[in-house]
Amino acid sequence: APILLWLRRDLRLADHPALDAAARSGRPVIPVFIRDDSVDNLGAAAKFRLGLSVAALGKELADHGSRLVLRSGPASAVLDALVDETGAGAVHWSRLYDPEAIVRDSAVKAALKARGVAAESFPGHVLFEPWTVETGQGGPYRVYSPFWRGVRGREPGEPLARPGRLPAPEAWPGGERLADWRLGAAMNRGAEVVAAHARPGEAAAADRLAEFIEEKAQDYKAKRDFPGVDATSNLSENLTYGEISPRQIWAAGQRAMEEGKAGAEHFLKELVWREFAYHLMFHTPGILTGNWRPEWDAFPWNTDEDAPEVVAWKQGRTGEPFVDAAMREMHVTGRMHNRARMIAASYLTKHLMTHWKIGRDWFADHLTDWDVAANAMGWQWVAGSGPDAAPYFRVFNPATQLEKFDPAGAYRRAWIAEGQARPPATARAYFDAVPRAWGLSPEMAYPAPVVDLAQGRARALAAFDARAK
Ligand code: FAD
Repeated sequence: APILLWLRRDLRLADHPALDAAARSGRPVIPVFIRDDSVDNLGAAAKFRLGLSVAALGKELADHGSRLVLRSGPASAVLDALVDETGAGAVHWSRLYDPEAIVRDSAVKAALKARGVAAESFPGHVLFEPWTVETGQGGPYRVYSPFWRGVRGREPGEPLARPGRLPAPEAWPGGERLADWRLGAAMNRGAEVVAAHARPGEAAAADRLAEFIEEKAQDYKAKRDFPGVDATSNLSENLTYGEISPRQIWAAGQRAMEEGKAGAEHFLKELVWREFAYHLMFHTPGILTGNWRPEWDAFPWNTDEDAPEVVAWKQGRTGEPFVDAAMREMHVTGRMHNRARMIAASYLTKHLMTHWKIGRDWFADHLTDWDVAANAMGWQWVAGSGPDAAPYFRVFNPATQLEKFDPAGAYRRAWIAEGQARPPATARAYFDAVPRAWGLSPEMAYPAPVVDLAQGRARALAAFDARAK
């Protein structure tokens, strides 16, 4: 009987335990991707980027004598129908750790078992299963540094090689056409502009990792904080769809450390921030929906997402160059440098005293590397409401941060056209990427600041002090 391989956020062939086990069984393997609510509910950019990933995997599978069967509907109903149609005796998948996926997958597992079909879930999306990492006292870590010390010496094992040709079933079940899913339809901006910055698929991800190790790992620690310098791996975009596994990155980082590449360990430390985000989400799933620290529930956040200063933030027109460059980078590329994410998020939650959920939702709609765990942790870390967060009184000043991390003005010039006689293509691309309804053009004057930095800071601290009493 064939094995159904239910693919979700593991759109690769190498280092894929669920696929590896299916291939080794010698039975026919039927790879399936299901467009269920977890796909339909994605933000616009993430959904669009997912489509590129599904397309790339479809080609890759075809090269392996296989196919990717596409179906829509609730996962349990789709799998049930596929078992009927194919006579499959087992379903394999890689585990996910967000609460919605856990509820869905548990129900699917129970339903399959009830009808005598083996349902097997496998690791692969994180380095270590969240329930296997505990503090010395027992229980999960709530602070990053001890978490890092707790996992740095652990071995996630060697990555698995990609299987050869996959045994095909005698007859393939019918499927839908990816183009008919119109996964890019919700983009409020030029999808082609964003697509030009994406590197979808397993082969592209592997190239990216190799390039990083070869060209950037040495100087990573020294340069990773400068948003105008291309010094980081950009692998988040591939990791989020599972086009590469964290274990493959871990193994490459370890080898680079052994070869004496100075920044390699720091790179693994950042990878472990992702791991930490997943473990936190698994143990405290409420991090996705509300303040991780409940005392923040009483904070007088602005919750009006259409307030003029919030609209200015979304449009990259706050008059604060670091914030605006960051937001424009995201519009054009679907990505944002980590330092810029911190500055843009801090400005929204502190200087504009606006709820982090508004920022999170905007990022979810605009990031091609949107990741359920890393995004929620990032926002709550910056806002001060999360675990191991920056203390509230430490408010990033976007002006001094720009002087420090963009001393030669490279980032600013790359993204802000106004005031430049010959703005670079990146800065001009922003005006092609934003919705027409915003009515923006590069000939407009650069806006005056929507809030005075000193006043904004003082207002946020006063509100925080009042809340603390
Ligand atoms: P590199 O510097 O090359 O790091 C390698 C990998 O480590 C990354 O690909 C990523 O998987 C992981 N990593 C690095 N930094 C972090 C971090 N601070 N937290 C968690 N994982 C990290 N990351 C996402 O992948 N998706 C998101 O939706 C996301 N939203 C964020 C929102 C805010 C407000 C903040 C402050 C951070 C967010 N991050 C998010 C984390 C971080 O900004 C990105 O992972 C990083 O910029 C990706 O670039 P890179 O792949 O070049 O990273």
